Amino acid sequence: MSKRKNKSKKRHQGNANKGGGPNKGKAPRSGPPKKGKPPRHRGQKSVTAEVTCTGLTHEGKGIAQWKNEKLEVPHLLPGERAEVIISQKGKFTDVELKHVIEASKERVDPPCPYYYECGGCQLQHMSNATQADFKQQAINELMKPFAKPAPIFTMEHPYDYRNKSHTTYGMNHKRQVVGGLYEQNSHDIIDMDQCLIHDPKADDIANTIKEYMRKTKMQPYNEDTGHGFLRHVLIKVGKVSGEIMVVLVAASSEFKGKNNFVKTMRKGHPEITTMLLNVNKRDTSVVLGDQEKVLFGKGTITDTLCGLEFEISAKSFYQINPVQTEKLYGKAIEMAELSGKETVIDAYCGIGTIGLVASKKAGNVIGVELNKDAVKDAIRNSKRNGVTNARFYQGDAGKFMVDMAARGEKADVVIMDPPRSGSDEAFLSSVVKLKPEKVVYVSCNPETQARDLEYLTKNGYKVEGIQPVDMFPQTYHVETVAKLVRG
Ligand code: SAH
Repeated sequence: MSKRKNKSKKRHQGNANKGGGPNKGKAPRSGPPKKGKPPRHRGQKSVTAEVTCTGLTHEGKGIAQWKNEKLEVPHLLPGERAEVIISQKGKFTDVELKHVIEASKERVDPPCPYYYECGGCQLQHMSNATQADFKQQAINELMKPFAKPAPIFTMEHPYDYRNKSHTTYGMNHKRQVVGGLYEQNSHDIIDMDQCLIHDPKADDIANTIKEYMRKTKMQPYNEDTGHGFLRHVLIKVGKVSGEIMVVLVAASSEFKGKNNFVKTMRKGHPEITTMLLNVNKRDTSVVLGDQEKVLFGKGTITDTLCGLEFEISAKSFYQINPVQTEKLYGKAIEMAELSGKETVIDAYCGIGTIGLVASKKAGNVIGVELNKDAVKDAIRNSKRNGVTNARFYQGDAGKFMVDMAARGEKADVVIMDPPRSGSDEAFLSSVVKLKPEKVVYVSCNPETQARDLEYLTKNGYKVEGIQPVDMFPQTYHVETVAKLVRG
């Protein structure tokens, strides 16, 4: 543990000092924006103005008044005075920070040299304490009608946490292969060697693939012409097990030079335990296609979470920050107050993680999930852990609950963890009909959670506690878990 910490610290310092290290694509920019930076929107009407920041949006952008307009300025902090570039983009006003005139005490140098271009992180210019404060305030405000949220669970080392990474490959204007993340609001690839919130092992593998492509005929896919082979690489790392899955997402199932590629990767990275080819022929921003072929290994990885082993496939959802997930699940199970007799519904269960952790303290668990692969994983996972009191079903959680309510079935506790769009009325109204004593609502989008809490509190439930968890440090996203009781 301490070894890894030292390594990652070095990674960050290296970036801040060298301004990016070897970078063959776009020149990275480190530190806050400097004076004289050229406007991004050439040919568009743009003006430069001086503004003062008065607050933050929920996405962490600075709010500033300019003439009669309320501007949202990325990377600006409350109290700061700055020069900004304002451009009209059709109906939208695009604002870019040009130069901070008076900086806030809360401002820090973002350790990532790509920070201002990338957009994957939005809060690296804030200190850790300021990030925590920003997230806490946002949740307190949103949850005001329901209950006072507890202090947010922060992360001790808020970098290197992602166990899943996506790298996109392409060609720059010099016809050299580049690989990295997309630039903010665009499909231009920033050629990067590391992303400071990824697991460093994943970045090393993605870099080896880039080097391999530069030396061989393996071509990146071109979205405009439809030519080429490799679109993305998805890497999943078992943080505890050390197992690693590499998924090549290609535009065609015809993989020329496959044996040589697999041999090179296994030799250079013996830590890779399985490799797959996923074929995505569609013109889409969805990363994975339907067709999947195992190139070597068993096609899945295993990891340990909350003392249980989980098998994870390429397509199924698995929480991306396991350190914080253990805190989140711990709180969710505590909120469920299980005595060993209850029937617990784990809705939107993914690969069964929450339900299987809860099964140790419950009478029985019923899991429901839309994704077929995830349900298969959940069933395999219950067997792997010797759990005999959990059943998993594939289907829409709303419809499943409507059917359960229609059959007059009962549940004592509903644990729900819907996607960002939140739940729907079919689901929520069935919860009300099933009358569980408790509902534990885990959410990665507090805005839709607040909407759903409003429904439940208007229909017989009371919010008894809200716990924010920082699962996504450096970004504006926050996870929350709320406890509701009936009556
Ligand atoms: N509880 C799990 C997964 C949470 S993510 C965990 O902690 O790992 C949300 C899950 O909801 C995803 O697995 C997604 O596939 C699933 N999902 C999305 N829409 C759904 C629906 N309408 N019915 C059931 N599951 C759904």
